[in-house]
Amino acid sequence: MSETLANGMIAQLKPQKNQLDERGLLRYGKMLIDGEWVDALSGKTFESRYPGSGEVIAHVAAGDAADVDRAVKAAQRAFTDGDYRKMNGADRGRLLWNIADLMERHIEELAELETLDNGKPLVESLKVDLPQSIACFRYYAGWAGKTTGETIETNARANAFAYTLREPLGVCGQIIPWNFPIQMAAWKLAPAIACGNTVVIKPAEQTSVSLLRLGELMMEAGLPKGVVNIVTGFGETAGAALVAHPGVEKIAFTGSVEVGKLIMRHAAGTLKKVTLELGGKSPNIVFADSNLELAAKVALMGIFFNQGQMCTAGSRILIESSAREQFLEVLAGRAAKMAVGDPLDPKTRMGSLVSEEQMNRVLGYVEKGKAEGAQLLSGGGRVGTQGYFVTPTVFDNVSNDMTIAREEIFGPVASVITFNDAEEALRIANDSAFGLASAVWTTDLKKALTFARGIKAGTVWVNTYNMTDNALPFGGYKDSGFGRELGSAALDVYTQTKTVYIDLN
Ligand code: ADP
Repeated sequence: MSETLANGMIAQLKPQKNQLDERGLLRYGKMLIDGEWVDALSGKTFESRYPGSGEVIAHVAAGDAADVDRAVKAAQRAFTDGDYRKMNGADRGRLLWNIADLMERHIEELAELETLDNGKPLVESLKVDLPQSIACFRYYAGWAGKTTGETIETNARANAFAYTLREPLGVCGQIIPWNFPIQMAAWKLAPAIACGNTVVIKPAEQTSVSLLRLGELMMEAGLPKGVVNIVTGFGETAGAALVAHPGVEKIAFTGSVEVGKLIMRHAAGTLKKVTLELGGKSPNIVFADSNLELAAKVALMGIFFNQGQMCTAGSRILIESSAREQFLEVLAGRAAKMAVGDPLDPKTRMGSLVSEEQMNRVLGYVEKGKAEGAQLLSGGGRVGTQGYFVTPTVFDNVSNDMTIAREEIFGPVASVITFNDAEEALRIANDSAFGLASAVWTTDLKKALTFARGIKAGTVWVNTYNMTDNALPFGGYKDSGFGRELGSAALDVYTQTKTVYIDLN
């Protein structure tokens, strides 16, 4: 395995020599604090690898509590004085728009970094993740300066005048997962800045590189120093320090349920506001009266997009018994034809899982599925010995109490469950600890609307899957978390209300 990217991965990319350091590795290793690119105070770094081959692509600063403290102080200063304080809503909107324009100008480079970081197909980074992230900055550019309070008629006394102000919170801590590194950062950064907050953001340790490049572009776009600070490092050190820091007003977290619970406990010490976007085990319900061909095709995208590493993955596919055979023929036939390939090849549609650890976790679930009696229809194994590729896997004859139907796998494993009527479908769908997303395929309006009303999940798709939209609130019920991202709902979690009461006597 080559130690430098000059002979390895980077050779496949468009020549961008300015992205490499003297060792031939990607130069994104320093953290962004107070507008400066700095090493960790400890001097420590950790290796970041390309999941498609396991090669080292960068040495990233291992930030810890001391670096978080510097970053939070910089964000506090930026919030209370400096250029940012003088910016009005229109200025902030222009700033967000400038960031989006620069991302667009550098879209190919950002998409390549995203794929090098995460192992997802280049076409997904380029055609889905980046365009949606850019659109997210533009969406919130439009909201900047448009949060309003109310004038409210007083109740206790007549001779008074009262109104409310919507104010930013201050310093927001944002903790990002590795599955959609840039997009998850955009979902959190854009509304926070639009509302006038400052930020300390921590990418996942597996995928720091693309956010660091985005940080450079943000500075180039005119972001005043200290408004967005990026601290790289591990969850237990940098992440935990951010959650515990008394100068942070709010934590926005996307990640596992386990860490979400930990964060909530630790945030209690300083009474921080918390929003949590956690896991899912989303049901995708297909009735016999639907377009089965289309439902099967979209169900595959619903579970295999991003190698199944999505909190919204449609990992439980519920099929009505009368349509089972017809549906499975299309589903399994198409799944068997889906090949994994080199993530950097523009033709590849299924790339690598993010890490060896994640691959082993997923393969462990495949073994559990077999042991508990589910029938393997396709896939179920690793491909090759380099990189972390797993074949698209479909299990049939799954019952909802099996481990593969209850636990979030976060990999390319679909569990097919059969049901007999609408009532049973809804019961199975709701029989889960999670409640993030759901879908129903039917041409019967009554069935669709009854399901939409009955399902306990933050999103319901009808005759489609995985359609997120920057204008629509997104978040979970039950163990999938609370608080909403995107849409105007995100403005609520990045502002607080102040009441002003004026006595007119
Ligand atoms: P996964 O298990 O899929 O890697 P995690 O929930 O562990 O997801 O990670 C999501 C994000 O949370 C990452 O940025 C990670 O560094 C961070 N993280 C992990 N543990 C902690 C912790 N104890 N406190 C704060 N952040 C953490």
